[in-house]
Amino acid sequence: MSTVLPIYVGDELELKKPHPCGENHWLVMGTGADIRLKCAGCGRRLMVPRSKLEKEIRRFIARGPRAAKETGGADVEG
Ligand SMILES: [Zn+2]
Repeated sequence: MSTVLPIYVGDELELKKPHPCGENHWLVMGTGADIRLKCAGCGRRLMVPRSKLEKEIRRFIARGPRAAKETGGADVEG
């Protein structure tokens, strides 16, 4: 059984490798076979294949509204 990591627009990720600008906080701008990311530090955008990105994620800083919706009984922050 493989683990599929749900990634949605609006999620914020911390990756294992920081961007050259020093930031490793990324915003998910689009999903599909490739995930579109925007660096929260410098605003640069890039696309990363989902399979590659999944290995680079250290943690979710925040989940977008869509993720919260689809996980159903997720805890509400705050
Ligand atoms: Zn950057």
